[in-house]
Amino acid sequence: AVAALGLEINSRYLAAWSTDLAGRTLSERRVVHDATREGAERTIRALAAIAAELLGEARAAGVHTAGIGVAVPGPVDAADGSVRAAPNLGWRDVPVARLLRELLGLADEVAVVVDNEANLAALAERGHAGSRAADLVYVTGETGIGAGIVADGGLLRGAGGFSGELGHLQVDPAGERCACGRIGCLETKVGLTAAIRTAAPDLAADGAAGAVTRDPQELAGELLRRAAEGDPRALGGLDEIGRWLGIGLAIPVNLLNPEVIVLGGYFATVAPYLLPAAMRELRERAVAGDPAVSRVTGSALGFTAAVRGAAGVIVEEVFADPARA
Ligand code: BGC
Ligand code: ZN
Repeated sequence: AVAALGLEINSRYLAAWSTDLAGRTLSERRVVHDATREGAERTIRALAAIAAELLGEARAAGVHTAGIGVAVPGPVDAADGSVRAAPNLGWRDVPVARLLRELLGLADEVAVVVDNEANLAALAERGHAGSRAADLVYVTGETGIGAGIVADGGLLRGAGGFSGELGHLQVDPAGERCACGRIGCLETKVGLTAAIRTAAPDLAADGAAGAVTRDPQELAGELLRRAAEGDPRALGGLDEIGRWLGIGLAIPVNLLNPEVIVLGGYFATVAPYLLPAAMRELRERAVAGDPAVSRVTGSALGFTAAVRGAAGVIVEEVFADPARA
């Protein structure tokens, strides 16, 4: 039997997911880990430890792992699998593929594919629930905002693999400084830190202006609970975030005319409270009018989209090159 292993480095957690070639889950892990504080080396070591555990389990069960896909929250150099910059981790030029190979002592025939987590999530969403849309944009709702763009049926990577940096397009020249060092990026308006500050400021770690340090999935659940209970701060805050989200989504809509936009991460959890304002804003901004407005939907895979996509990319490699199995 053959397996594929997906790994994810999120700014707040590490995740692993292994599947067989039919995409059935074999094993999964998720540990809270502050990659910003721990830094690159310790984080990659922690990730390698989780990977080693799953690889060992597979081996013991007689399952051969064909490769490892790794989802990271920043633009990745497609040539060598290194992270160029991960704004919310404070990382620059980290050779993730090489480090993992070394730490795990992987044989050459075991593939290691590192990619931006929004790209991998977009692929996972495409394979899921029959959404075979030829033009789809996946937007992460994490500490950071990123996009995975499927255009004409394939992932749009750009010349160096750095496309889809939606979160760092400026939407407010008079806005706040972003983790990337620039001013008024979309991420500063709709990233999880902004959402907590706007909709549930008591949950921010260091008071109203503090960064979010808790598990994003937990925070998203808490936001949803408050909104569902009619907490006015949560409802008003999410409406305001939804408005900025609509402003942001007008960029891919006018630039790419996707059939569907899939919202991931916390956006998916609280979609019912974001979408009315987002769609209102989007309709006003779509230059071609209503026919150009994409179907906007919350991800069915939620916070697992990226790590599943990371395993999925290995499954695809095996189908493309059966010698890998
Ligand atoms: C990064 C993107 C990433 C997104 C979500 C952004 O800050 O630049 O590459 O996809 O955060 O983690
Ligand atoms: Zn930025």
